[in-house]
Amino acid sequence: MEVAAYLTEKAHSVSVVELEETPFRRFLGERVGRALMKMFENNRVKFYMQTEVLELRAQEGKLKEVVLKSSKVVRADVCVVGIGAVPATGFLRQSGIGLDSRGFIPVNKMMQTNVPGVFAAGDAVTFPLAWRNNRKVNIPHWQMAHAQGPVTCLGSQGKDPELACSRLRQACWGTRARGQALGAGANRQFPRVPQGRT
Ligand SMILES: Cc1cc2nc3c(=O)[nH]c(=O)nc-3n(C[C@H](O)[C@H](O)[C@H](O)COP(=O)(O)OP(=O)(O)OC[C@H]3O[C@@H](n4cnc5c(N)ncnc54)[C@H](O)[C@@H]3O)c2cc1C
Repeated sequence: MEVAAYLTEKAHSVSVVELEETPFRRFLGERVGRALMKMFENNRVKFYMQTEVLELRAQEGKLKEVVLKSSKVVRADVCVVGIGAVPATGFLRQSGIGLDSRGFIPVNKMMQTNVPGVFAAGDAVTFPLAWRNNRKVNIPHWQMAHAQGPVTCLGSQGKDPELACSRLRQACWGTRARGQALGAGANRQFPRVPQGRT
């Protein structure tokens, strides 16, 4: 989405193709996702939602058209692929360290795995977030990974730290959106603030 925002000042037109009904829905929730979508639409970004890319058509080695599952054909010179990431935790499968169905490592609030003395932190984990009734969430943000390091240290010393949520920011079109990442499906405020303020 940040690439899309950046390109609106460079490209003739910018389109976003998305599997979900609303961008950011799984991470920030429906309401926040819709607000962000509106902001993008107001800046000439066209959305093709609930569909996916089937084919990239080229002529003389250059991209010409993007064919969507919905049969729509979008003319394009450049296609930027941003389809997420999965944790590379396959090597743990025989280790005894528990993984969930998506390959994330579930930890408790001290970042302990199911194996005593083994801790995990960062993008690869799901952890209980107090603000969400200790629901296990995965928040793939640098600030979150950074915060989980000290929590791991404190947890390994038998202390009982509590992990807060992760702040995130997005800078688009001279405004900065700032919010709290609370994991899948949360509907938290994501206010826009003028440039220069955080
Ligand atoms: C394109 C992109 C843009 C992003 N933008 C932002 C942003 O604007 N703000 C923000 O907060 N976050 C952003 N993130 C997310 C942020 O980068 C991650 O949340 C953060 O890097 C997670 O840190 P980590 O240490 O958990 O994992 P990583 O930074 O992914 O580090 C994991 C390391 O482990 C190594 N590794 C993997 N498997 C093995 C193995 N078997 N043995 C040894 N080493 C291994 C990898 O090579 C890697 O170096 C972005 C991520 C991407 C991909």
